[in-house]
Amino acid sequence: MGYQKPIPLKTLDNHPYWDAADRHELMVQKCVSCNHYNHPPGPSCAKCGSPEVAWENLGDDIKGTVYSYIVSYRPFLPGFQDDLPLIIAQVELEKYPQIKIMANILGCNIEDVQIGMPVQMTWVDINEERAIPQWKPAER
Ligand SMILES: [Zn+2]
Repeated sequence: MGYQKPIPLKTLDNHPYWDAADRHELMVQKCVSCNHYNHPPGPSCAKCGSPEVAWENLGDDIKGTVYSYIVSYRPFLPGFQDDLPLIIAQVELEKYPQIKIMANILGCNIEDVQIGMPVQMTWVDINEERAIPQWKPAER
């Protein structure tokens, strides 16, 4: 069976983010004018509107804490029915608390997830070319 979930589409605005994910690294957009970390990436800075945005490589050791989360019991997209219930969390990065990244938390019981829980970014290879960032509980 191949990968049945939607594969995130690379666009002009977000492709450095997904190219980095394919290499199991995190790249985020940063505004040249006001230094705002612009995530999710877009054509211009969400804070000041400047179209001058650059990219910063944050590497592959990405830690954070759960800022908010929801538990999904029904598939809202095809391909997720075997993963339910699914924890979808917004995670605040430890070194860059301005940045919050939304992804699933894998390998975590729904009874165990809580706000402030430490998590580590992990990348799931979805085919030979693409990988997607996800979270997993951090080792303590
Ligand atoms: Zn800006």
